[in-house]
Amino acid sequence: MILDSQPQIPPYDPNIYAPDQLVITENPAFAKPGPTYIPPPRPSPVYPTPYGVGLPHTIPYIFRPVYTAPVLETPVYTTPYAVESAYTTPYSEKAVYTTPYIAEPEYTTPYIEVAVYTTPYFQTFGYTTPYSKTTAYTTPYAADTLVYTTLYPTTPVYTTPYPETSVYAASYTVKSAYGTPYTDKLSCTTPYTDKPAYTSPYTIDPTYTNVDHSSKCTWDGIQVNDPETWDPVPSYQYSKMPHDIPRPGAIDSNITALVSKLTLKQKIGQMTQIQVGQLIDCNGELNTTAVKYWIHEWNVGSFLETPANHRGKCNWYSPNAFGQITDAVQKTAIEHGSRIPVIWGLDSVRGANYVKGAVIFPAGISTAATFNPKRAYDAGRILAKDTRAVGVHWAFAPVSDIPVNNLWSRVYENFGEDPFLSSHMTAASVNGYQGNYKRDRSRVAACMKHFIGYGYPFDGSDRANRHIAAHELLEYFVPPFKAAVNAGVATAMESYGVINGEPVVMSQFYLQKLLRKYIGFEGMLVTDWEEINGQATTYHTAKDVKQATWATLNRTSVDMSMVTDNQSFSQTTYNLVVSGAIPECRIDEPVARILQLKKDLGLFETPFADPNLQATAGSAQDIEAARNSVRESVTLLKNKRGVLPLRHTDRVLFVGPTLNSTRYMGGGWNVHWQGPSDKESDEVYQGFGDTILKGVQRVTGHEPQYFEGVDIKGSELINISAVIAAAKKADKIVIGLGEGTYAEIDGNIDSMKLPQNQLELVYAIATATEKPIVAVLVEGRPRLLERVAGIADGIVQAYLPGTYGGLPIAEILYGKVNPSGRLPYTYPATEAQASTTIWQPSYTDYKPQWAFGYGLSYSHVEYTNVTVSCSTLTLDKPITISVSITNHGPYPQKETVLLFTNQPYRFDMAPEHYRMRHFTKVSLAVGETKNVTFELRAEDLAFWSTGLEQKIVSSPVNLAINPHVQQNIKVEITLDVNVDNSFMLARV
Ligand code: BGC
Repeated sequence: MILDSQPQIPPYDPNIYAPDQLVITENPAFAKPGPTYIPPPRPSPVYPTPYGVGLPHTIPYIFRPVYTAPVLETPVYTTPYAVESAYTTPYSEKAVYTTPYIAEPEYTTPYIEVAVYTTPYFQTFGYTTPYSKTTAYTTPYAADTLVYTTLYPTTPVYTTPYPETSVYAASYTVKSAYGTPYTDKLSCTTPYTDKPAYTSPYTIDPTYTNVDHSSKCTWDGIQVNDPETWDPVPSYQYSKMPHDIPRPGAIDSNITALVSKLTLKQKIGQMTQIQVGQLIDCNGELNTTAVKYWIHEWNVGSFLETPANHRGKCNWYSPNAFGQITDAVQKTAIEHGSRIPVIWGLDSVRGANYVKGAVIFPAGISTAATFNPKRAYDAGRILAKDTRAVGVHWAFAPVSDIPVNNLWSRVYENFGEDPFLSSHMTAASVNGYQGNYKRDRSRVAACMKHFIGYGYPFDGSDRANRHIAAHELLEYFVPPFKAAVNAGVATAMESYGVINGEPVVMSQFYLQKLLRKYIGFEGMLVTDWEEINGQATTYHTAKDVKQATWATLNRTSVDMSMVTDNQSFSQTTYNLVVSGAIPECRIDEPVARILQLKKDLGLFETPFADPNLQATAGSAQDIEAARNSVRESVTLLKNKRGVLPLRHTDRVLFVGPTLNSTRYMGGGWNVHWQGPSDKESDEVYQGFGDTILKGVQRVTGHEPQYFEGVDIKGSELINISAVIAAAKKADKIVIGLGEGTYAEIDGNIDSMKLPQNQLELVYAIATATEKPIVAVLVEGRPRLLERVAGIADGIVQAYLPGTYGGLPIAEILYGKVNPSGRLPYTYPATEAQASTTIWQPSYTDYKPQWAFGYGLSYSHVEYTNVTVSCSTLTLDKPITISVSITNHGPYPQKETVLLFTNQPYRFDMAPEHYRMRHFTKVSLAVGETKNVTFELRAEDLAFWSTGLEQKIVSSPVNLAINPHVQQNIKVEITLDVNVDNSFMLARV
């Protein structure tokens, strides 16, 4: 018998997830921030037929006059290239940003400039290896190469010091590059900016030489330094909306009619997503001609990202400034091309982290540690309004991978290793983002990502190959995605790379059979960054882009390609359809989904940024919501000799780089993709955040004594003798250890150990004094503590608490808040345990530093009277397990109660060490007792076999409550399915 049952998927709880509507309370005291940003006037395009009617699409904007007057440029180039010294240290783009060939002295001190350009842009691939982007330009304009190669006859100059000769040759083709429009071209990759080439029509105006990419950005309207004294932001309330969860799927007749009116090119444009860097000029402004180019020429239906990650003028965009950019693009979309509003996607993954002033929430891993889905809902609810405020309608979140390998740089983005916990957090997040998104214009579409199996990279490096059997995918990796679909998630993103050698983006099994058929996802599916092209350029799984595009469209239901910066997808898809290799109906289906999504989100009526919502960004209630999440997530891992909580009378010395940094608490995807740069430092926040030290100051009322002690990379100990001298005079020493900011590939590590000198700092202090030490960990993934795990009396795991984490952490250190977080992953003790999880087979050793679900508090909570309603669990009859919990004090307690099962044996499939089946969080006053009851169904113990059948088999079952904290609470029952001892629940 096959039942259509869905174990492990959180039920919809209207009390927690009820959609609500945002009501802004008028607050006359609110002063609208800052002056309105007015973009400087741009020269109007001189292209006589700007959109190249009749021109071949591959070379849209070739303006021969520019190229046929090369002589103009010659003098410019002859001078500097004679200066060999200029090239020895590497072209330092100074040339780009200053007036490149001014004079020799300019080249003698060229590296002052370097910092300017490397710092703000170091987040993007393109800038760290500036010349790597040249390939982008070679294709469309290859024809023009000749022109430029003859321009630079000073070959010796290029060949001698710089093996990159070819790079320069290639980069000059960029000039032709009015097709790749006006962005990277000039700017920021080629030092010799060919001014003449740009004089018509895209004069690089003088500001180009003066762009200040440092943290001070005065034009964006927000200049507030202390959020605590921030001009009153209007408070707002929610009013309940009807409890109907909207779901994607149905296509309205007017959408079908619209699809039928579009040309093939217009339809393909809807399926194309381009990154905003393509729209930003060298001076950091929106290049309106480039906007028109993509919209009019290629009918692009979607953009993504923030200009701050792509040379934008400002390194963090206020709601107002961001909104002006999306509005300008939207206006162009409505007036040009298909005249259909674009949908803009943004990695608002932890609050609207790319919108200045909006509250940056704790990372997913912290949210998971709260074991309270309400926290995920709240973060989602607030990020929705702050994202929508800036004219962005689509958040690329929640991140619902199951991180297994703890070396992985993306552990922190997710909800931990347990599928059940991740499912609940995912569902709550989706409800927070979307609410009733078909009616509520303060919501955004969520995007569950990355489907699928991304979290188990073989060697721990991002995007590495994964080896995961299909039944393991179903068992451990699919549940959060299924939960998202049950919660009505509107969109999904497929995952990078290959599983068992098979590329996900071209896989019928993963994207059709699993995603669409088994999980029943009917929403819109987007690829990850450049994944179609990547098959040809990175993974070697396709001969060329054409083959990759064909396979993706032919085998999967991918709806949109995150292209991100060229015309390849549009052009290739067009050719494939025209040649008959792909039927046009394959194009119509995604276009209908995309347009329906646009309609559902209200884009046809209200596509623009919303000043009313903008006004609520960063309100005190949002800050409080983020802090509440931190209060419930911080996990006390060790507390010996009563070292914690600290007493106000204790003389405490604070040491370590993570105690005095907002950005380290924020981690990656915070202001920028990689987090703020060293140059930007904490200054970039301009007060939108705090630090642990500031939190301590607020809690204790006086300035803490602090030494940095070591840098975040652990490369050197700083002023260690002074640290030791101060430690000797202190009663207790709090040491902040952890990680700097990183995201994706840039966060790859080959050892889980904390940086050596961070460990040495602790060893040095412990050797010099016997004073109690508390280690506070601010880290995105569990880093090995080595001997510090034994030396420290107190260990506090703060994860990545977000930019407002300082106060709540201080409150916990001083006992103002009793810690209630629990580990959402297994904390490894050795490198060999990189991929140890609580659900690994029970016959293998599970001896980590701390187990999944581990966490202490300052109160003593007693568990008594464990009862089960029946000692046999059968298919039709759930049982209940009850336990009494009493808070013996001395603090009020939010007690996290976790129910696990373990099977002593399981026929045909090795049973896991433990599987979590339920969890809850209960508030207990001092002295209070409460009963906690869980219901357990036989279906909860189903598992996937290698034959891809979901089965339940008879066996004894141990029920365990908090097994790694409260050691003795175990009850044995019998699972009896009574049908040949094996029952099939579902099949794929
Ligand atoms: C990441 C995605 C992200 C996308 C767009 C990719 O590199 O894997 O998580 O949504 O970039 O920024």
